[in-house]
Amino acid sequence: MSNGQVNLNLNNLQKNLSQEKTLKAIAPPAMLGMLGGGQLGRFFVTAAHEMGYKVTVLDPDKNSPAGKIADVHLCAAYDDAVALKAMADTCAAVTTEFENVPAATLEKLAESTIVRPNAQCVAIAQNRVLEKNFIKQAGLPVAPFAVINTVTDLPGDDSELYPAILKVARFGYDGKGQARVRNQLEAQQAFVEFKQEVCVLEQMLPLDLEVSVVLARDVQGNIAAFPTVENTHLNGILDISIAPARCSEVIKANAQELAKKLANQLDYAGVLGVEFFVVGTRLLVNEIAPRPHNSGHYTIDACITNQFEQQVRVMTGLALGNPDLHSSAVMVNILGDSWVNNTEPAWDAALVHSNLKLHLYSKEEPRKARKMGHFTVIGQDKQVVLNAALIARSELNIG
Ligand code: ADP
Ligand code: MG
Repeated sequence: MSNGQVNLNLNNLQKNLSQEKTLKAIAPPAMLGMLGGGQLGRFFVTAAHEMGYKVTVLDPDKNSPAGKIADVHLCAAYDDAVALKAMADTCAAVTTEFENVPAATLEKLAESTIVRPNAQCVAIAQNRVLEKNFIKQAGLPVAPFAVINTVTDLPGDDSELYPAILKVARFGYDGKGQARVRNQLEAQQAFVEFKQEVCVLEQMLPLDLEVSVVLARDVQGNIAAFPTVENTHLNGILDISIAPARCSEVIKANAQELAKKLANQLDYAGVLGVEFFVVGTRLLVNEIAPRPHNSGHYTIDACITNQFEQQVRVMTGLALGNPDLHSSAVMVNILGDSWVNNTEPAWDAALVHSNLKLHLYSKEEPRKARKMGHFTVIGQDKQVVLNAALIARSELNIG
């Protein structure tokens, strides 16, 4: 055997070993890393703990909901070199609960540990310009839009985009960083109000319905999608999710197909939320979230595997869990608005319903429009479930 052949074989062996390393599942009680300490991180910690994992949370807020229950809370900024080194040294894999984590943070961590989803996917989801362009190039329909870099990019009053919504490209959430504008002048005023940050000007659509699909995709490309859910919003914030959605089977199936197509095109590894607009028989992609999604909270109580367990499974390389719905479900968000004069809502009245599951996030201050918790009503009869949820919603001063 020549030296050349020996080297070749060794190279192959090394390649196989490193492949095996990334394909081998990370077993409990390994430490997992979570970037962000909000409610999504908190549900992740709970899911990971149930499965025997430990969790390190990085969040600069010492009272963060997930930090409070994590095994280790690194209370530092998302670009803090010491904290990132500690996370890379101690965590077998890292994931995120919010899209605004700096791409450089994910890249740094990826040098020495497994990071899912990767920096590239998060970078696309955190910027509406990249996001819309990606979705369009992937061949999926989006609302007509224009990219606004400077005030001169705003189209004249005769543009088909008006009436429109001006949305800041970065750091907008729950309807923040959005303005409804009827003409160029209003668009200019809103653009100045947004400090002339890059924006997208999006045509206002006559929505019949909003639906979403949350799915998990693993590194081998397997996908487990949760059912298509129907969502209603109040003041730009998710109010109610109904699972399964009350729309045609064609729309529901189409949403599943488009969400899977996007995940494949992104070569995504992790849990992905895809929001859609329904206009007549048309389905358009609104936006994507590179993490579990508020409209997937019902999976905690109504699915065989919930979206946070799926997040654990993908990052550790375990097989995806069964996403099937075992009950109809209606999820209602509870915002800080429900605390009148700082008084706790009437939890006992809501909890009288034996099929109602209450989840509170342990946030210190019940500020207006702040997500403080949610509840899910489950059952076999869709109408009974919806009625019970609406009664509990009004008892808790929601809406
Ligand atoms: P966020 O990041 O705040 O969730 P979205 O772009 O999803 O931002 O907008 C929030 C909500 O505002 C949507 O769920 C929808 O109800 C409404 N909305 C956003 N864009 C449009 C549009 N082009 N036409 C009609 N309604 C819209
Ligand atoms: Mg949205």
